[in-house]
Amino acid sequence: MEHLTVDQLLDYFDGRLSEDAETRIEEHVAECSECVEAARAARHFAVAWNGWTAREHGAAHLRALLNRALRDARASDHDPVVRTRLARWAERWAGRAEVAVRIVVEASAPRFVAAGLEALTGSAAGWQFSPAPATPPIRGTPGRAGTAKEAVAVAPGARIVVSGDGYVAVRVDDTFPGGAPLVMLVPLAEGEKPRVATLDPRLGQPFRVARFEGLPAGEYLVAFEPLESAPGPVEGEGRV
Ligand SMILES: [Zn+2]
Repeated sequence: MEHLTVDQLLDYFDGRLSEDAETRIEEHVAECSECVEAARAARHFAVAWNGWTAREHGAAHLRALLNRALRDARASDHDPVVRTRLARWAERWAGRAEVAVRIVVEASAPRFVAAGLEALTGSAAGWQFSPAPATPPIRGTPGRAGTAKEAVAVAPGARIVVSGDGYVAVRVDDTFPGGAPLVMLVPLAEGEKPRVATLDPRLGQPFRVARFEGLPAGEYLVAFEPLESAPGPVEGEGRV
């Protein structure tokens, strides 16, 4: 491989490259001190740029985060069916989700942050954000009475509950169009691993639940797997 170009490095840091291309860059940088210096400079530039422009680069940052999470989750998940679905999600949707919700897990004030997430979503048809009652909670939800909870409806028949004691539950009705998507929880903090959950049926109940427990306080993205029937991503974006 020739030395890396600035464009290649910027694409790398913005998460716009395929997994193979990323690997080639990492292998080259591992052996080339000249390109390590170039990568440092590009990284500095990429970070400054990401912080400086509001909309598109904020979105690029989130898409890169989602791409990395899909790759990490695929590498660590033990279920081959889940791995196959994550691979398809990454390949076909490149940094997008059917819907993405940013949440804050905090003992005193769990909450939802809606800003800027439209850039992450795919078709988004039928999705709508509206406050939902947090109580009564999903049956079987652990947690003490009186723990702060927030809930949001993300579509008719789908809602997310965030609890102050490190618990997040996603509930989807059985009549939900498109079936039961995978749900991925992506920590925004560096170094934290994403988690993937399936929406499992509840005995005798007309809905499915995905749950995440024991979460450290912090910000997360809750991302839904794109639906099979949905159209592909916007042309010319997010792929190399
Ligand atoms: Zn080089």
